[in-house]
Amino acid sequence: MAWHSSGSTNAELVSNMSANGLIRSELVRKAMNAVDRANYVQNKRDAYHDSPQYIGHGATISAPHMHAHAAENLFPFLHPGANVLDVGSGSGYLSAVFYHLVSPPSSPTGKVVGIEHIPELSDWSKSNLRADGLGAALDSGSVVMIAGDGRLGSPEHGPFNAIHVGAAAPEIPAPLVDQLASPGRMFIPVGPDGGEQAVFQVDKDASGQVQKKALFGVMYVPLTDRKEQTGVA
Ligand code: SAH
Repeated sequence: MAWHSSGSTNAELVSNMSANGLIRSELVRKAMNAVDRANYVQNKRDAYHDSPQYIGHGATISAPHMHAHAAENLFPFLHPGANVLDVGSGSGYLSAVFYHLVSPPSSPTGKVVGIEHIPELSDWSKSNLRADGLGAALDSGSVVMIAGDGRLGSPEHGPFNAIHVGAAAPEIPAPLVDQLASPGRMFIPVGPDGGEQAVFQVDKDASGQVQKKALFGVMYVPLTDRKEQTGVA
């Protein structure tokens, strides 16, 4: 099912993902409708294919169905006004979806911090977000795109109600667990590069207790250092 949601328009892609049960929440559907994937890819012809696409520098924009899984999983923590961290923000697509969820019209404005370790991608994501209508959110600081090592998180902007990690970590980085709010949830693929990987849901409850649960198998690019990813220091 997951790969069969491609459409010829953004609306069709989102509606196919709803029909296939990948999008279940009305608010996630609305947010994904508000973000045009064509603004976050290099080859617009493939914008509405339910597949990952190469965005340069050894990175891909994740497949739409993975973005839907991430948004649905984190949804209980994406209330209006929530503070969100998107690690390995790449194209900026999912940061935009999170922004619409935590900052709906006439509600408290939330904040989304995206961290990407390839500065060129971080700059590109900002122009993508502007093209997609989020220039004012960038200017006001409701969306912040940082170039840096996401394994360290962003302590100055935390704690975060929700943390999304868009690349597979060999193990769950401790700073990210530390920066989860109580309560808070992290969605993170874990496993070796090219090997067996699973998405983990890491929940911190109101008293600070942490629970980790494997959800399903996946294939992500690695959460790594820049030299390892691009061959350039
Ligand atoms: N979620 C994004 C990108 C997914 S690909 C999207 O869908 O567009 C994973 C991204 O993680 C790549 O852009 C890669 O450059 C980035 N990445 C890998 N290791 C990282 C690290 N240590 N810190 C920050 N970003 C990292």
